[in-house]
Amino acid sequence: MKNGTKCIHEGYRPANGDPLALPIYQSTTYAYDSTEHIGKLFDLAADGHMYSRISNPTVAFVEEKIAALEGGVAAVCTTSGQTASFLALANILGSGDSFLCSSKIYGGSVNLFSVTMKRLGIECIYFDPDDGDAKIEALIKPNTKAVFAETLANPALSVLDIRRIADLAHRHGLPLIVDNTFPTPILCRPIEHGADIVTHSTTKYMDGHAIQVGGAIVDSGNFDWEKAGFTCLSEPDDSYHGVVYTKDFGRSAYAVKLRVQLIRDFGTYPPATAAFYLDLGLQTLDVRMERHCKNALAAAKFLKGSDKVQSVSYPALEDDKYHALAEKYLPMGASGVVSFTVKGGKENAVRFMDALRLAKNVVHVATVHTCVLHPASETHRQLTDEQLVAAGINPGMIRLSVGIEDIDDILEDLERGLSACI
Ligand SMILES: *Cc1c(COP(=O)(O)O)cnc(C)c1O
Repeated sequence: MKNGTKCIHEGYRPANGDPLALPIYQSTTYAYDSTEHIGKLFDLAADGHMYSRISNPTVAFVEEKIAALEGGVAAVCTTSGQTASFLALANILGSGDSFLCSSKIYGGSVNLFSVTMKRLGIECIYFDPDDGDAKIEALIKPNTKAVFAETLANPALSVLDIRRIADLAHRHGLPLIVDNTFPTPILCRPIEHGADIVTHSTTKYMDGHAIQVGGAIVDSGNFDWEKAGFTCLSEPDDSYHGVVYTKDFGRSAYAVKLRVQLIRDFGTYPPATAAFYLDLGLQTLDVRMERHCKNALAAAKFLKGSDKVQSVSYPALEDDKYHALAEKYLPMGASGVVSFTVKGGKENAVRFMDALRLAKNVVHVATVHTCVLHPASETHRQLTDEQLVAAGINPGMIRLSVGIEDIDDILEDLERGLSACI
């Protein structure tokens, strides 16, 4: 199946007489005939759901769909994108370890990595993904265990050279974890370019209607954990009577450990209803992404043509710094988010935003509605000026999330905003 078909048919497959729509299995637990069977579940020696803190059939169907869309061997859903980023790392890192992270990432990830994970004893070492290999490799330390980056960075809109960074990571026995929230698997499948683990804030395009916060982690099944010395996966886990993930679960070792250890212990599994809503979003993801890309390109070109605009960032624009990388990694379109900077700095940015009528001023992106956000005074206000520059953010910069409305109405609204700039 192609991705457009997988959006609808992967995961839940109704058998003869079954409901066509994905059923919501609203149950905390599952009934079994024998104590012996439940004992086996506790030893991970039999398949089956046990308790909805660890797995649930409705969520499991959506996980299968996401894994299929990304081309991975397994996926695990989480209660948020933040949890997905945290667990993707915590599954293989512990106190005393470090990881390399692109400086061009989501502001919430910066908080998590630089403040909270630091308190847990995990060091985040930032690198500029546009630097050459040697400069990046020089940052790797003996305790470095992973490399983390975003495919299409929020909000910098830089495009990651996934293949190059994956090769670099692999030369040092490190897995590459890629946050693929903005492109979604419709526009880019990082695993095909060498990424080992893919994370998502499903809150964005996957949900797409601004109704439910969620996350997902996809395991490519391609990384050789044993060879790279990840003993947390290749040595016995006492909490499951000595299960060895790499030996007992093969290519799904990482995903199984993540679920039965971290999801079990942290209680960060989504409820069935959340997965049901996410699945509704996934069913139309393919058609929505196509329209988001088309509208965003038209909006980017329109803004570029205005003398009130200082600069526009959108990787599908031919003169964009990341155009060549976008052609390689995002051939179907560069998603729906456009960053631009109005002349006249913060004051004009605020005038622009407050004059809009169609576009909503919200702390969100990637929904069917056209939205605007001012990173310097909203999502990224906790960053220092230096961190703002490193993240590619200017005080007059506006992040425009182009929705799927009629493009004529979107452009008319942008014109209204520009007219309010002095
Ligand atoms: C929003 C976002 C996150 C965090 O996801 P939540 O669902 O809000 O917790 C992580 N990464 C990226 C790229 C995001 O845009």
